[in-house]
Amino acid sequence: MNLAQRAVGAVVGSAVGDALGAPFEFGPAGAFSSRFPLPGAGGEMSGGGGWDAGEATDDTQMAVHVAESLLEHGRLNLPDIFARFQRWAADDPKDIGLQTEDVLTRGLPWDQAAAAHYRSSHLAAGNGALMRATPSAVYFARDDRQTTMAAARHIAALTHGDPAAWEGTAIFHDLIRVALNGGDPLDQLSQTLTAVQPDHRRRYAAVLAADWHPDHATEFNGAVWPCLGSAVWALRTTQSYEDAIRAAIDLGGDTDTVAAVTGGLAGAVYGPAAIPANWTEPLHVPLPGSGGRTLRLPHLLNLARDLAERQSTD
Ligand SMILES: [Mg+2]
Repeated sequence: MNLAQRAVGAVVGSAVGDALGAPFEFGPAGAFSSRFPLPGAGGEMSGGGGWDAGEATDDTQMAVHVAESLLEHGRLNLPDIFARFQRWAADDPKDIGLQTEDVLTRGLPWDQAAAAHYRSSHLAAGNGALMRATPSAVYFARDDRQTTMAAARHIAALTHGDPAAWEGTAIFHDLIRVALNGGDPLDQLSQTLTAVQPDHRRRYAAVLAADWHPDHATEFNGAVWPCLGSAVWALRTTQSYEDAIRAAIDLGGDTDTVAAVTGGLAGAVYGPAAIPANWTEPLHVPLPGSGGRTLRLPHLLNLARDLAERQSTD
């Protein structure tokens, strides 16, 4: 498999995880496999909880906005990404994270809004920057570790003022970089951790350790540490894209985001052929802030290939 194929796996894999997990958000552990006991049986992309079958949520919607900004500008343009997020937030998305909404609707400039939120709330270590990071991770996968992790921190900081959210997103960027270049992201975790800011290294080393289990989490999995830890756990303890996603959703809680993060990693590792076709067929991404567009699988395939090739759409 080449980098472009793995990129398709990551981008589509994350969107599928998001859409598949959405109906189970805030539900109990085990809900997915009690409803769909037999892997591969079909019908899992069922909708529910206000979501149509195959409908992707804010995780993928924001990810697509990041992707389109990178491709249209041919570089990281932070004010432009922030402006796209603001247009998206103002166009009535079905779901939006609490921190993200507060930051985007403050009326402050792109380089001040998240920091102001963090100063007043001290609560900004949600998984809302991690959840949307797959396309940017693909775009920067041809760069070195330092470059992709720096880009991740900058994009995360648009909405999340807590450096813990930046570091979790940076780790994810590097895991995708390793996978897209044909490596095993789990084998290289210790190298990735060396590039994490020292203040945050111990806490990430704990949730990414081989013996960590989601039951050990000290926060709800809407926080960045257990969300990333759970995604890596789901990848480590299963043998296929489908089983990784099932394990992620079966954790309960913030199921769409944990599955979106898991799906980015598992899609990069196993590739697009491992994603069940009956999960990709109904997949669609309504895109508030884009003049009423809805993206379907062919759009996502093009987007992923363009990100992998850094093909500017100008
Ligand atoms: Mg969501």
